[in-house]
Amino acid sequence: MIFRATTRVCHSCASIDVPVFKSPAPAEGFVKDSRWVIFPRLSFESKKRLEAREPKLAELFAAYKRNTVTGHGRIGIACGGVSYAYVMEAIAGREEEFTVFKVATPYPFPTKLAAEFLDGVETCLVIEELDSVLEDALTYMKGNLEIRKEIKGKRDGSVPCAGELSAEIVDGILEKLFGMPRRIQTPAFDDMPSIPVRPPVLCAGCPHRASFYAVKKAMAGKKAVFCGDIGCYTLGNAAPLDMVDTCLCMGAGITIAQGLNHADKASVNFAFVGDSTFFASGITGVVNAVYNQADMILIVLDNSTTAMTGHQPHPGIGRTMMGEVSAAVSIENVLKGIGLEFVRTVDPLDYTKSVEVIKEAAALKGVRAVISNRPVSPS
Ligand code: SF4
Repeated sequence: MIFRATTRVCHSCASIDVPVFKSPAPAEGFVKDSRWVIFPRLSFESKKRLEAREPKLAELFAAYKRNTVTGHGRIGIACGGVSYAYVMEAIAGREEEFTVFKVATPYPFPTKLAAEFLDGVETCLVIEELDSVLEDALTYMKGNLEIRKEIKGKRDGSVPCAGELSAEIVDGILEKLFGMPRRIQTPAFDDMPSIPVRPPVLCAGCPHRASFYAVKKAMAGKKAVFCGDIGCYTLGNAAPLDMVDTCLCMGAGITIAQGLNHADKASVNFAFVGDSTFFASGITGVVNAVYNQADMILIVLDNSTTAMTGHQPHPGIGRTMMGEVSAAVSIENVLKGIGLEFVRTVDPLDYTKSVEVIKEAAALKGVRAVISNRPVSPS
């Protein structure tokens, strides 16, 4: 697919770059060339080419129209993305105090434009979320070019090092650093009635509730650790279920459960994984568990969808990304193919059977799997 950026007028903004799809060129097929084989010599040469390209790109980016320096105020603010919107809101009505450096392309850093920006201000504040990317680039550049300007940001604690920013927070930073009166009034929450705290929970009727409940009941009075994963079912940690003891990243529940076995042989270690996560990054962990003779129980919470992120199809569903019918990959067959001998499928709404199967699995050793299958009903 070939596309290029062009300028179109948008109804709500002034003008934006949108991709315009062109008719694809006729496919020529794969052209054999040694450059597609990344041997060490090629890596070495490619790295040199990449490094040589960086300053050229930085030069190009300095002239790129989305990297801008606006205003002539003594206080420079470097920002980009959503932070730019917060800054513009916070300085509204007093723009003459500021020079704003909006960075659309932080890497390679548009050094030439940044130097012009720093040259025109008395002091520089960097407003950005997440890591201090712009601040570090400016600080590095300042040292290289021997520019004597103070740079404030996350590194000196002027800007919070974690969490999202807002126009109110930027307003507060301007007050604290430069003694500027606050412009943005925060709502008087003291006057509002207190509302109950409502932490996120699994939906009423969610089949994962039944799956967790069955395991909880089957393991009542026994030592067990419940390793969770990424998905709606992370919410299984909420009371009264209290069934997620660990959660790190996709697929990690499986590898944590097998690691725990080395630390505590007396505990029955469970790994809960959703069907979508199983295909995305769970299978490799199960292969590792089987091959290294781990002792754990895998519970696949199979609701036949990718619930948390919007019902994207996955290989177990039987539809491709384009909506075409395709043969679904069977989780049960995958597990048996990997080498698991104990693989059972239960309906979590059949409480008695679910508890019985989990107790059966808990009495065994090795890697055992229970697929708790109950597709979500379309609402
Ligand atoms: S899996 Fe579906 S029913 Fe369950 S919590 Fe997520 S969205 Fe709700």
